[in-house]
Amino acid sequence: MTNRPKIIDGKALSQKIRSELKTKAAAFEASHNRKAGLAVILVGEDSASQIYVRNKITACEEVGIRSFAHYLPKETGKDDIIELIEALNSDNSVDGILVQLPLPDKSVENEILEHVSPFKDVDGFHAVNAGNLLLGNQCLAACTPSGVIELIKSAGTEISGKHAVVIGRSNIVGKPVAMLLLQENATVTVCHSKTRNLKDIAKDADILVVAIGKKEFVTADMVKVGAVVIDVGMNRHDGKLYGDVKFDEVSEKAAFITPVPGGVGPMTITMLLNNTIKAAERGSK
Ligand code: NAP
Repeated sequence: MTNRPKIIDGKALSQKIRSELKTKAAAFEASHNRKAGLAVILVGEDSASQIYVRNKITACEEVGIRSFAHYLPKETGKDDIIELIEALNSDNSVDGILVQLPLPDKSVENEILEHVSPFKDVDGFHAVNAGNLLLGNQCLAACTPSGVIELIKSAGTEISGKHAVVIGRSNIVGKPVAMLLLQENATVTVCHSKTRNLKDIAKDADILVVAIGKKEFVTADMVKVGAVVIDVGMNRHDGKLYGDVKFDEVSEKAAFITPVPGGVGPMTITMLLNNTIKAAERGSK
């Protein structure tokens, strides 16, 4: 059976949320006599990271968030990065701190991220925020997963009671997506590389979130007719961007589906801006 899927437009949703954030940023500035502030730390000269950082800074300017960019040479040692983070932790004009990953030395990433104050951890990667997400407490949730939830809701889909299948269990996407879906009262199954009968499980999903990093891995025979399919994957191949879902054939069966590019991607920066405003409004409470 084929049907006409509705494409969930991440760019349009992103613009809508950013215009709401603009209003919130202006209200914050009016009541605090300063703009909400986001500090971005980039270590080294990775070209993709430079583009991501530039995009984040431009997005901040667009909604009225002040950005503080710290570009450090790739040789910068762990202690110097931590010293900068500690200074930003106690800087009252900085509400959010983002360390652009990957760092040139990946082995120190976790240790460095744990030095970011949980109140300023707008990426939502700190153990305190991850733990509070698990406990259902107030927290700064990771940006891409929060964007996934907004995309599902924007399709008018009721999440409560649905079977949501998440393929991928990374700390930055799969696990937090699963926690957020659980908070929305979905029945959640998390799959990974050791999952048996992945196809059968995926095929039972009312909501299927795919975050594995494998070009066009999910095919039509793995998807239920009428499912909502969210494709987090970003796989570059011969200069072109592909998702983890084979869009052309899966879109024949899905009720709603996100494209790559133009789905989850634009929402990630938007949720970063959202977290920055949230952190600014909340302060260290
Ligand atoms: P990751 O850390 O590499 O994790 C991949 C996950 O997929 C792992 O849990 C792995 O299982 C699972 N997996 C790999 N192969 C599988 C298979 N054949 N069957 C089932 N599960 C499999 O990746 P990530 O950081 O979560 O990112 C995933 C994708 O999302 C990437 O393409 C990334 O570029 C993209 N992404 C996009 C955004 C955005 O803003 N749009 C943000 C972040 C990430 P194991 O745990 O068993 O190894």
